[in-house]
Amino acid sequence: MSRALEVLNEVFGYPAFRGQQGDIVEHVAAGGDSLVLMPTGGGKSLCYQIPSLVRRERGLGAGIVVSPLIALMQDQVAALTEVGVRAAYLNSTLSGAEAAAIERSLRNDEIDLLYVAPERLMTPRFLELLERVKINLFAIDEAHCVSQWGHDFRPEYIQLSVLHERFPSVPRIALTATADAITREEIVHRLALDDAQIFVSSFDRPNIRYRIVEKDNARSQLLDFIRAEHTRADGTTDAGIVYCLSRRKVEETAEWLKGQGIRALPYHAGMEFGVRQEHQERFQREEGVVMCATIAFGMGIDKPDVRFVAHLDLPKSVEGYYQETGRAGRDGLPANAWMAYGLGDVVQQRKMIDESEADDVHKRVQTGKLDALLGLCETASCRRVRLLAYFGEEGRPCGNCDTCLEPPATWDATRETQMALSCVFRAQRASGFNFGAGHLIDILRGSSNEKILQRGHEKLSTFGIGAALSEPEWRAIFRQLVAFGLLAVDHEGFGSLVLTEASKPVLKGGQSITMRRYVKPARTRQSSGRTSERADPTAGMSPRERARWDRLRAWRTETAKHDGVPAYVIFHDATLAEIARGAPDSLDDLRHIPGMGARKLDRFGDEILEVVGAE
Ligand code: ADP
Ligand code: ZN
Repeated sequence: MSRALEVLNEVFGYPAFRGQQGDIVEHVAAGGDSLVLMPTGGGKSLCYQIPSLVRRERGLGAGIVVSPLIALMQDQVAALTEVGVRAAYLNSTLSGAEAAAIERSLRNDEIDLLYVAPERLMTPRFLELLERVKINLFAIDEAHCVSQWGHDFRPEYIQLSVLHERFPSVPRIALTATADAITREEIVHRLALDDAQIFVSSFDRPNIRYRIVEKDNARSQLLDFIRAEHTRADGTTDAGIVYCLSRRKVEETAEWLKGQGIRALPYHAGMEFGVRQEHQERFQREEGVVMCATIAFGMGIDKPDVRFVAHLDLPKSVEGYYQETGRAGRDGLPANAWMAYGLGDVVQQRKMIDESEADDVHKRVQTGKLDALLGLCETASCRRVRLLAYFGEEGRPCGNCDTCLEPPATWDATRETQMALSCVFRAQRASGFNFGAGHLIDILRGSSNEKILQRGHEKLSTFGIGAALSEPEWRAIFRQLVAFGLLAVDHEGFGSLVLTEASKPVLKGGQSITMRRYVKPARTRQSSGRTSERADPTAGMSPRERARWDRLRAWRTETAKHDGVPAYVIFHDATLAEIARGAPDSLDDLRHIPGMGARKLDRFGDEILEVVGAE
């Protein structure tokens, strides 16, 4: 057995490497440079932690990890400390004296892994210090931060190429979850990684179940979803994130969920820093918090047991959707990505692009990105295949998304499309301006309400021709027409719809249109029970096992509080559930539970056996 695998078993308590981890670890341990592209939750940390520990044993010094995210650094160091690795971090949260103490430990060769913020690393003083000590590797986490085109650009990252010049014999490993080829090339170029071996993992996240439902009453749909699939037997909920577009909606949603007995907290950039910080802490440390947030929340959140990510509004792109949903299920256990989506979302996003200050080129790029996302929302085939294709990867129907589990019916909507488009045309011609979907649907369904009569729209030839369909069915049609670009949102009006170039051939009757059939959102889906069972680590436990689980959880909460770390740093749910099920009665039995490393066995073994045995 290789030393790396031994370290994985003994220190981290995991039986085997995942995916490409093994190859990467061997390559880095042998001193090679590398660039690792792996999705969130893929297990990037071990790719540098283990080689660093192996090289350290060979007397090659400490590992230096460059990370831009303070919260993440702190969590990693806490987790490493729990497994007995001497880890520390240097960033702006430390006092001068604390930083000096850590630098001293580094000089005395008493640190295994040191996490450093890039701006700290690049100070002349610190670089000089590094030249005087032994370093076994440099790990550059979130390496896409060198990309000037990305959202997360950090100017200090550009300077990291200095590492190669000043420490030519120290291997470097750069890691990122950003997949596209342009970013990859930029990383290689800017970090001088020309000789690095590139490891590209599949970006699939098989444990995430993707679902996009038709928006009806988004809030109560969300509540139904949380109640049906993320409420445990003891009434607490799983940890989850609910993304909303606006700060106001974040606040309102959190408040409303709270009123429904769910431990929800708001998070957005407009909140006072201290409060925001506190909410983030609580989300990470406490169990079962549901964070309602704008996309300001997420970067650097390394909570492995987020069981669901819900979108109440449409993200701006597939990249955004993938990044946000990717925060669910890092621990590899089943997780849900759930989104409610409707006509209003499409109209709103199209309008936002139109009204933005961006130039035409930029607008076209944004429109393209939105279209790709709308394609994902409207697809009648596997969502995962579609997602992976967007990132240039091939896939097969996954069996773990809504369209695979309950294939949507499609129908020939050519005639209804013509009705809708001609209604837009006639109403405009009769009144001299455009109307929103609500009014158009009233015309089509023949509702002679006041607005209709005022405008004389009951005389239009399209009045009442669509009475056979319900209002929600028509909304689904209009949504798809806007999504397909057969209708556009008027610049002037408040969500008024106008014909586009693409609508002409359809109006003339030369093109047929297929749509997803509208399904009335069910209150609580039958099929959804399956997810809740799979995502709940206690699913299928006998009463005795569940009692053990409850005791173990209480013990974990105490221990975490004592150590000042999040509960998952002590043990993941999966490990705890395994103990509850297996009821080990000796340290030797306990040793074989995944997630039980040597140091944790040492520290906690006896206590756990006591907790397990206390029946
Ligand atoms: P990333 O940084 O790629 O998002 P992490 O390094 O945080 O992912 O790993 C995600 C989770 O998977 C962590 O909780 C980690 O403990 C777990 N993990 C990683 N590698 C393994 C493995 N070989 N066996 C079991 N669990 C693993
Ligand atoms: Zn699928």
